[in-house]
Amino acid sequence: QSDIINSRQIQWFPGHMTKTLRLMEKEIRNVDCVLQILDARIPLSSLNPEIERITAGKPHLYVLNKSDLADPEITKQWLAYFKSAGAGCIAMDSKQRGRATATKGLIEKELSALMERRRSRGMVGAAIRVMIVGIPNVGKSTFINSFAGTTRAKAANKPGVTRGKQWISVDSFDLMDMPGVLWKKFDSLETASNLAFIGSIRDDILDIEELACGLLSSVRGIYPQQLLARYKLDAEALTLPPYDLLQAIGAKRGMLISGGEVDTERAAKMLVGEFRASKWGRLSLERPPRRAIQEDMEEVTDDAPQ
Ligand code: GDP
Repeated sequence: QSDIINSRQIQWFPGHMTKTLRLMEKEIRNVDCVLQILDARIPLSSLNPEIERITAGKPHLYVLNKSDLADPEITKQWLAYFKSAGAGCIAMDSKQRGRATATKGLIEKELSALMERRRSRGMVGAAIRVMIVGIPNVGKSTFINSFAGTTRAKAANKPGVTRGKQWISVDSFDLMDMPGVLWKKFDSLETASNLAFIGSIRDDILDIEELACGLLSSVRGIYPQQLLARYKLDAEALTLPPYDLLQAIGAKRGMLISGGEVDTERAAKMLVGEFRASKWGRLSLERPPRRAIQEDMEEVTDDAPQ
């Protein structure tokens, strides 16, 4: 599978996720549109190709959730990227109560033809049915609670909590809350790593030191200053191989075992934990392809008043 997922894990894909995909296949005909929640720090890696396949025939919207943890400049570029692809998309911090209600307008716009049809047939008051989907831990429950303005769905800060589908009614919307789901074969080590970094793959099947080293190599290339500042390192540290960098950081934090060696496992856990708690600042691990944004930016310039 990858270096990140512990090599002893041959069968890592949990059975409840296979069930969720089947449930989605069955229920898709009962909804008007699909809202896929993505992680703003890794919009492409968190976009589930299995969900895309199953929901392809339905109007589709994307939420870049946890945007409070992502680099605001890069999130802007992602919004332009989705727009250029003709997809409705909104950046979101679901931890802000009520913030997700901003999605209502986006859904209504996407479904304007359907709503017009209903109006003309006198079907006033029929609820808009929205399937909420996404990978584990991306913030689906938190989003739904923010949308509802109260606590309706159970949020848990660990992936893999098994739940069945549930309907949640909010004003004229019926939300179908689906359990989080991944897919079996990641197309690259980068995708698998990104998903592991943000905590969407269960940590107990991951090699924590590999994970921390992967995170260090990824972040030092794009946000070197944040890394240096957080761990009070000299710029030279960035030239070290990732494992040596992990050791250097562990040593800085005094994480030693008998004999003066660095406890790299402890250092790795600390690093991954601090990244997830956004102690390194607001970071985006993925950037949209350049060409798509440029085209969209040109479009924006063309539209600008002279
Ligand atoms: P689910 O598994 O997709 O339902 O994810 P949860 O709603 O249980 O959220 C997983 C974790 O992410 C929880 O610790 C939430 O508090 C946190 N979370 C969810 N949305 C956001 C957000 O927009 N910003 C931040 N900073 N944290 C969030």
